[in-house]
Amino acid sequence: MKFKTHLAIGLFLFLSVAFLVQDVEFLFFGVILGAIFPDLDIKTSKSGRRLPYLAGMFKHRGILHSITPAIIFSFLLYLANLPMLGVGFLLGYLSHLAADSLTKKGIRWLYPLKKPVTKGVLRSGGIGDMMVFLFFSAADLILIFFLVF
Ligand SMILES: [Zn+2]
Repeated sequence: MKFKTHLAIGLFLFLSVAFLVQDVEFLFFGVILGAIFPDLDIKTSKSGRRLPYLAGMFKHRGILHSITPAIIFSFLLYLANLPMLGVGFLLGYLSHLAADSLTKKGIRWLYPLKKPVTKGVLRSGGIGDMMVFLFFSAADLILIFFLVF
């Protein structure tokens, strides 16, 4: 999925649970960070271009597109006394993995294990990706409307 699609889904998750917590700033930052973090393994992605040396270290759709870093980094944030940042990061990360599970390339959730693999029919950057982006962008606007008014 494209960067903007992951952001729209992450924003939807944040808006869906923001009213439940007090530290909304930490939750917001964590969700957005988690939603874009896995694509650090693509040198040409928006996040990968900012950290090219880091991006070159990882195989695309390898370890960073598995559940392991989501759990480790969230737990480290919890230990660093930043629990809401950790919760947000976990939510955003899982949303990224779930969204990429809809693509043809799929996700190996327990990388380097070959299974379980989840694959879909969408192509990153294709019409399906755009439809998901438009759906969640519309949902974001509706949630913002209800949160504000
Ligand atoms: Zn991805």
